[in-house]
Formats: sequence, C-alpha cells, structure tokens
Amino acid sequence: MDQSYARMPVSLGLGAGAAASGAARGKRAGAATRIAVVGGGIAGLGAAWLLRKDARVTLFEAGASCGGHTNTVDVQLEGRSHPVDTGFLVFNRRTYPHLCALFEQLEVQAVASEMTFGVSLADPAIEWAGADLGTVFAQRANFLRPAFLVMLRDILRFNRATTRLAAHGAMPALSLGEYLAAERYGVEFRDWYLLPMAAAIWSCPTRTMLDYPLATFVRFCRNHGLLQIADRPQWLTVAGGGRSYVRRIVAQLDDVRVATPVLGVARAAGGVRVRTRTGVEHFDEVVFACHSDQTLAILGDNATADERRILGAVRYQQNVALLHTDAALLPRRRKVWSAWNYLAGAGAPDERPVSVSYLINRLQPLPFASPVVVSLNPFIAPAADKLIQRIEYAHPVFDQDAIAAQRALPRIQGHKRSWFAGAWTGYGFHEDGLRSAVAVAAGLGVGVPWDVPVADPGARENPSRAPARLPEAA
Ligand SMILES: Cc1cc2nc3c(=O)[nH]c(=O)nc-3n(C[C@H](O)[C@H](O)[C@H](O)COP(=O)(O)OP(=O)(O)OC[C@H]3O[C@@H](n4cnc5c(N)ncnc54)[C@H](O)[C@@H]3O)c2cc1C
Repeated sequence: MDQSYARMPVSLGLGAGAAASGAARGKRAGAATRIAVVGGGIAGLGAAWLLRKDARVTLFEAGASCGGHTNTVDVQLEGRSHPVDTGFLVFNRRTYPHLCALFEQLEVQAVASEMTFGVSLADPAIEWAGADLGTVFAQRANFLRPAFLVMLRDILRFNRATTRLAAHGAMPALSLGEYLAAERYGVEFRDWYLLPMAAAIWSCPTRTMLDYPLATFVRFCRNHGLLQIADRPQWLTVAGGGRSYVRRIVAQLDDVRVATPVLGVARAAGGVRVRTRTGVEHFDEVVFACHSDQTLAILGDNATADERRILGAVRYQQNVALLHTDAALLPRRRKVWSAWNYLAGAGAPDERPVSVSYLINRLQPLPFASPVVVSLNPFIAPAADKLIQRIEYAHPVFDQDAIAAQRALPRIQGHKRSWFAGAWTGYGFHEDGLRSAVAVAAGLGVGVPWDVPVADPGARENPSRAPARLPEAA
C-alpha cells in the first residue's frame, strides 16, 4: 500500500506556557467550588482540564472510557496489534489553534496526515480523485465526457465566486442548495463533487448539506483551504492514536467517573444536584458537555423554556461506522483510493445509497499492508471475516435552526449555574468542542495557558445574515 505520509513527529509550533488568556469577568470558580462536567469527549475533557486547578472538578462519563468521538481501537492484523482511530482523526495548525496549544501543553506528538478525496459512482460509472491530474483522469473516458469537464470548470467557478463573496463579506442569506440553483451550477458539480465532499467532511447525508447556510459552508471551506488548489494546510494526526491525548488529560484530573451516566440534574438557588445510579451529589456549577439532545434528556422537566427551544433546535443524525479491511468498500480503481472516499450506488440522485470510506492507512501511519477502512453508513456489507468492529456515532445536523440555536446560546449560558459545551456549538469538529470548553472556562473566570483569543461562551462567529429563527419548543 502506498503510504505517502511523513512518519516524522511534527512540532505543533506553539511556545508552551504562553501567557494566560481568557476573559475573567467575575470569577465563579474557586478552590472550594465544585463543578460537575457531564461528558468526557473533547469538550468535557477540555473543560475539566482547564478548570482543574481553580475548582474541584468531577467528570462524569457514560461510556466505559473517556474520549467520546475520539475512539481508538486496537486492530489485530498480519500478526501484530496497532491503534487505529475510528472517529476524530485529523487536525491542522491553521484552523485548530486551541487544540494544537492543548496538545503542546500535554506534550502530545503529531504526525503528518493526508487529506485526499476520491469519488466512486455506480450510475453513471464514474471514478475520480482530486490528488493530481493523474487521479482526476484516472478513468481515461472522463477526458471525453463533456459533463465531467463542465464539472471541473464549475469547481473552479465555485471556488472563485465564493472566495470573492467571502472576501467582500457580502454573503447572500441563502442555503447552499438555493445558491447552487440560483447560480445554475450543473448537477454533475453538485452530485459528483460538492455534495460528496461535504458528506465526507460532515459525515452526513448529502441532501442535508443542501440546507446548510451558504455563509457558514463557505466560511468553513475557506478557512480550511478547500476553495483553493494551493496553500492548503498540512493535516496532522495524533501519534499513537487520539486516545494518547485522552489518557494524558485523564491522568491530570482528580475525579473521573467512567461508566457513570448522569441521569438527572436539578438546579436550585443554592446549587446543583447531580443524580447518577450511585446517588445524588451536590455541586456549585454544572457543565453539560454531552450532545444538546442528551442535555435536554438529563434536564427533563427541569429544563427552562429557553433551554428547550435552544437545545432542542439541534437535530442529530445517527451514523453507523464499520471498521473493516474489505477493499470492496473502496473505489474500484486503486488509483482513485484516497484518504476519504465517497461511494454512491445505483439509483436516482435523490434515492441512491451513499457512504463514505476513510482509508485509515492514508490518514495514520499504520504498519499494515491490508487496507484498514472506516465506512460510514455502508450500503454493502463488508465480508464477515473482514469486519473488525461496528460503532454508532451521532452527528449534529447544521441546518438553519441549528445555526440560529448556536447564536441564541449566550441567552442560557451560565444561567441557573449551567454551562453548555460541545462541538455542536460550532462547526462540529474537534476545535469547536475545545473552543466551547475554553469559552465556558472563561465564563467561569478561568483562562487558558496559551495565547489564542477566546470568544464569549456560546458566542459563535457567524456573520451569516440568515434569520435568527428558532422553532418553538415542542
Ligand atoms: C467518524 C468520525 C470522524 C471524525 N473525524 C474528525 C476529524 O478528523 N477531525 C475533527 O476535528 N473532528 C472529527 N469528527 C468530529 C468529532 O465528533 C468532534 O470533533 C468531537 O469529537 C465531538 O466532541 P464532543 O465532546 O462535543 O462530543 P462527544 O465526543 O460525542 O462526547 C460527548 C460525551 O458525552 C458522553 N455522555 C452522553 N450522555 C451522557 C450522560 N448522561 N452522562 C455522562 N456522559 C454522557 C458520551 O458518552 C460522550 O463521551 C469526527 C467524528 C466522527 C464520528
């Protein structure tokens, strides 16, 4: 297998011990303050780690171990065992400043990763990948297929037009789908490139992406260098798997309760009561770092109308991830094999089954010759003897309601001794999870030991002119 990543450790390039930043506006955390953090993903781990020296923190995690979407599995293959990430995999220095700073503090090593993208469609039978001209035209017939050439032209047009719009800050208040229709982009551009790429990035059904606000979509793509051919960020992955950072954080926390789901939280003037299977404990503040629908379930009848409206506005998509070694779930042409592979079966564009296969050998340095693959929502099953593990992940759906909810979040942030963190408060990525934790810590008066600007807790950079519309609470 072609392994074109660098194996050398990559310095994250941040000075350790930079001056503490963070807005201390009325410190609510103190040595005697007891803070419950619910959820041990990056948001909860980040919040607990930041608050650990200024308060007595207890981290409750429902799962058998911390990490949440950071989920490293030991794969036994070809006579050896090696850690493989099945959830959070890649980050970069440009758009993950807090995560890089945290990793620097934890002395976590990163290695270079690869961000290449391939498409394999059954009907019409088209395969291509964006790595270079050789992979774009890996299927020779595409040279002579006018629709394919129009798609390539549309990619350049879209990149140019949206870069210009973003630079002028004049983004129309349209969804991505509305914009594509208004500007008459071809269906091939939409179905053979844009939606596959978006589905791979956000791990969501392609149709959902059409509802995504144009401004948010373009800002994300621009920040991540996806609208340009050159000067893309170098993607990185955690050496030894994401669990190595999780373990380092957990080792620095005093009170971590795994396999302890929080069943209920009641807030009163004097404090917060957290109920688990083992009883009820009293805290001064609570940080909800689980998904917003899980937070609502924990609050139950105790949720305020605002909490119900804001947290309830974010929908989640349930995704099945299969970890396996079956090349049948990769593009037919080996030349098209990429780090991210979008596959679509036969059928009408709106009905055909689609899935994304992450070829982990391209994303992480693995010692295996066989392909190690994570397939999201595969429409053909891998051979039984090649299946390693089945995992379920829920992803937030970033439609207009969710974006409006993010903007309304400051309304409930810190009220009733309750704070809300999670990747769902941003674009859904690891940096968003940690950024939300940094903001919550700042709201409690605790800064970060590095120099990166800190946003208001709950505030989200979102100049979209989409209306701040929230559905009514059910
Ligand atoms: C397949 C896949 C690939 C991805 N790849 C990347 C990537 O390469 N780069 C990137 O930046 N992002 C990636 N992501 C996005 C990733 O999901 C987010 O970056 C982030 O990990 C989410 O963190 P979180 O803390 O908000 O939520 P989670 O990680 O989901 O953590 C929430 C935690 O809360 C716990 N919990 C829930 N209910 C309770 C309860 N009642 N009591 C106690 N605990 C509870 C859960 O068990 C869970 O551990 C990927 C996601 C997936 C699924």
